[in-house]
Amino acid sequence: MDIFDKYALASGRHDRVLEVGSDPFNLRMEEIYSATEARVNGRRTILVGTNNYLGITFDPACTEAAIDAIRKYGTGTTGSRIANGTYSAHLALEEVLSRFLKRRSTMVFPTGYQANLGILAGLAGASDTIFLDADSHASIYDGSRLSGATLVRFRHNDPKDLDKRLTRPGTQGGCKLIVVEGIYSMLGDRAPLAEFAEVKREHGAYLLVDEAHSLGVLGDHGRGLAEEQGVEDDADFVVGTFSKSLGAVGGFGASNHPKFDVLRFCSRPYMFTASSSPSNVASVLVAVRRMAEQPELRLRLWDNARALHDGLSNLGLEIISPESPVIAIRMKDEETAIHAWNQLLENGIYVNLALPPGTPNGACLLRCSVSAAHTGEQIEEILARFAAMAAELNERSEKTLAAHATP
Ligand code: PMP
Repeated sequence: MDIFDKYALASGRHDRVLEVGSDPFNLRMEEIYSATEARVNGRRTILVGTNNYLGITFDPACTEAAIDAIRKYGTGTTGSRIANGTYSAHLALEEVLSRFLKRRSTMVFPTGYQANLGILAGLAGASDTIFLDADSHASIYDGSRLSGATLVRFRHNDPKDLDKRLTRPGTQGGCKLIVVEGIYSMLGDRAPLAEFAEVKREHGAYLLVDEAHSLGVLGDHGRGLAEEQGVEDDADFVVGTFSKSLGAVGGFGASNHPKFDVLRFCSRPYMFTASSSPSNVASVLVAVRRMAEQPELRLRLWDNARALHDGLSNLGLEIISPESPVIAIRMKDEETAIHAWNQLLENGIYVNLALPPGTPNGACLLRCSVSAAHTGEQIEEILARFAAMAAELNERSEKTLAAHATP
């Protein structure tokens, strides 16, 4: 027996994907020209799948701050936050985030994934129950498992189903923690947060909102879905990432709970890993200011999101997202999705290919994420390439139908 035998099925599927063209799970970005363009397979390519919502990865103030931090503080901290890895910059970033989020305290983590591990595993223990949306991100599932709490999944975006599960016997001991996301990463839909907040209040539960895809995107100040829906006081804990709107790497957990900071010496994923590099922290500090002081970035993002959503809808593609910076297009099956993804790439458009089991309801998706940095011409170009792809798919399916028609 080989230790990798358990992956035989996954390997077989991957081999079939490779037969169609480029490897979607191992794509090489050979050169990055800007927030929206890169060289991929030797070709200038428009990026429409990078979650770079505010398009600030090349903001001169962010890049300068990062370079300056490397010169002053070196390339890495070489230590965890509870040893030698807390620099003034980490504390400054936590303060700036707390002020922006209007939270008493913020903990910074090296990634958004780790923020979920650290906050969930820190908050919940074996006697507690975590209620999580069935479409939750892997980091929410993993953090919940790590906590040792009882896990209860409720139907995606369904407060009634949550209410039912909260009432069931067997979940009455310990504390109850509900976990939802702001904008869901695959379909771009939003949690009905005001309704979830009502359920949470009725049951005396805690509510955690992962605003990974909604920070800088929703709300009058960009604080996310809880701000947009006017329920920030009900969101006891907020988790977010620096790898999307803030254009860097890292994550955070924030709260008004007076005892929140106990997690700094009780949450293992926070304690037992090296802290974020000085350059990352420095660029995020500037990026948070950009997000706060330049609401026009958010407005431009939404103009672009609407333009792409409308344009793609007009092509007759099956768009399963509401108007959102995340736009998912359902393909009829895996083979068609892989083929369409390759066709777009060969024509200079990069989107995400999302296949089961990583997708809700086993859907095969092309997933776009829009940026404030996309120009009008780029949106036109993206739409033109999608139109060509849709036409080619139609032609293919007509040929297949003709081939199977009985004479
Ligand atoms: N939460 C959600 C909802 C996400 O979509 C992601 C990343 N896609 C993460 C957490 C993890 O963030 P990061 O990539 O910064 O680790």
